[in-house]
Amino acid sequence: MARRKLFVTTALPYANGPFHIGHIMEYIQADIWVRFQRMQGHEVHFMGADDSHGAPIMLAAEKAGKTPEQFIAEIEKSRGPYLAGFHISHDNWHTTHSKENSDLSQDIYRRLKAAGLVYTKPIEQFFDPVKGMFLADRYIKGECPNCGAKDQYGDACENCSTAYAATELRNPYSALSGARPVLKSSQHHFFKLSDPKCKAFIRDWLETPGRLQPQVVNKAKEWLEGSGDKALADWDISRDPPYFGIRIPDIGEEKYLYVWLDAPIGYLASLKNYCAKRKLDFERLLAECEQVHFIGKEIIYFHTLFWPAMLEFAGAPYKVPDHVYVHGFITVSGDKMSKSRGTGIDPLRYLKLGMNPEWLRYYIAAKLNANVEDIDFNADDFATRVNSDLVGKYINIASRCAIFLTRKFKGEIKLAPGDALLPKFQEASGEIGKAYEAREFGRALREVMALADHANQFVDQQKPWELSKDPANDQRLQHVCSVAINLFRLLTIYLKPVLPALTAQAEAFLRIAPLTWADSETLLESGHTIQPYKHLMTRVEEGQLDKLFEQGAEQPVTEQITIDDFSKLDLRVARIVRAEQVDGADKLVKLTLDVGSGTRTVFAGIKSDYTPDKLEGRLAVLVANLAPRKMKFGLSEGMVLAASGDDGPGIFLVSPDAGARPGMRVK
Ligand SMILES: [Zn+2]
Repeated sequence: MARRKLFVTTALPYANGPFHIGHIMEYIQADIWVRFQRMQGHEVHFMGADDSHGAPIMLAAEKAGKTPEQFIAEIEKSRGPYLAGFHISHDNWHTTHSKENSDLSQDIYRRLKAAGLVYTKPIEQFFDPVKGMFLADRYIKGECPNCGAKDQYGDACENCSTAYAATELRNPYSALSGARPVLKSSQHHFFKLSDPKCKAFIRDWLETPGRLQPQVVNKAKEWLEGSGDKALADWDISRDPPYFGIRIPDIGEEKYLYVWLDAPIGYLASLKNYCAKRKLDFERLLAECEQVHFIGKEIIYFHTLFWPAMLEFAGAPYKVPDHVYVHGFITVSGDKMSKSRGTGIDPLRYLKLGMNPEWLRYYIAAKLNANVEDIDFNADDFATRVNSDLVGKYINIASRCAIFLTRKFKGEIKLAPGDALLPKFQEASGEIGKAYEAREFGRALREVMALADHANQFVDQQKPWELSKDPANDQRLQHVCSVAINLFRLLTIYLKPVLPALTAQAEAFLRIAPLTWADSETLLESGHTIQPYKHLMTRVEEGQLDKLFEQGAEQPVTEQITIDDFSKLDLRVARIVRAEQVDGADKLVKLTLDVGSGTRTVFAGIKSDYTPDKLEGRLAVLVANLAPRKMKFGLSEGMVLAASGDDGPGIFLVSPDAGARPGMRVK
């Protein structure tokens, strides 16, 4: 196979907040594809960057009392723990607020202008006289011209869904200052997307077989071929100051490139920055590489119309994307992510809870296909799939068989000839590889798990634990376990794009070099020795998922527990049959409790509020399964429940209503 050279990107996240689960899903998708390509021996340059310009960042920084540069630097710094945490293997992470991006963007602007595709015309727009800036539609509010609803945004009414121009709002006001905006004219720069040569090029580019998913081609064509109201419009690529962005060159006045023009150029800026670090020739690398973008469906418009047209008409060394691979959104239990409703998954919280990042990689991969479809995260499904597939099927093969090899044969592999299962597993590399290549990760993993089922059936039939009982079976036992470990190794190859850390552990256990895809053509031959098996992956615990979805986890009430956690407490009704002073103890009273089935001694810190005579005869609630504690004055066999506040007014014993009997369970 010819060695491919690939320049792969993930969409640039806007640098005004932390990553959410949607970003992580995209990075996992692209990373799996990239790792698969690397395993094939292809040369991959995997780029990411922050999208750091535009009015929202400028305003967010102002609100935070920071300069935009400080603001985006902090965001950029926050990216590392997420990317490393989920094993995302970008070769470089850069920012659009960089010299590379500024140079490239100005260069592309100049080239488009020279190609006759940039023109200017005056635009009348709302201007905030207090802030001294033009207002984008989302910063203008007013009354809906149709239904009169108040506080509607400048583009559409949330009450009656009517779309309108900001200038049609009644009693408009600036959402930034509250001031009444005034109409003001300014010279704007436009990219002539409607130019016939542009449209003809885009049509061609869209229709190149295999370049885009069919759904994406259809969507882009609707925009391209629209007429009347829906006709493809030219693109306003300039913004007036104040703006956080890249200056439009050569025009003798202060204007900036619209953030959406410089954002995708950030892909190239990241590559250029990486080339400088690695001493590679940027233009040559760009020319040699297939250019592949992974993006979400909400930015198809920019990536299938403007972006290829910009690159095409800027000319060499720029070249058009070879592929734009589009994914859908991730929902959580059917709900679109929403922080306010607490239904989102916070990726950092996931990591902080100690949840295994590869569980999420596996789960997301198992749900992904090559279509533009939304995928749903369902907590029960997540636990079931990870526990049954990874722990129950894949890991299980090694954990059941390795021990016999290490215990009886010093870890040595010995295969008898003529086994039929190994070739079957080896042959599967073709189909599984095709599925990875086509981003049909769900299909790839279904094939892998079907093989894992076969491997486990083989072990079930051969019963190494039975064979190991009689030394006469040793030869057979060593062969069976050697086959099983080889099957495990082949599955490890097929899972490696999804589970890089786990497979690295498996490689260490097998004592082999990092696996490549071609290694499926070989086996661990007789004479190879493996390490003793160490546990490779734990199961998902229900409590972890509960914590992940817990709402208000940061509030002062202590962490939520599950009903299972609660039921671990054995609370019993107890009668205090005797209460005694304890010599030398300031706070303690010694209680003898009737718990129905006998008596217990408990030292309770309630002396400040209860004298012994007030305690004898009354009922209390005992934590009956608390580990006994040896104290200076004797053994305390449990604890009685009492209420108290941080600052008084005292201690209050908890007791059941009249009628309860010693020994009854409290639950
Ligand atoms: Zn309305």
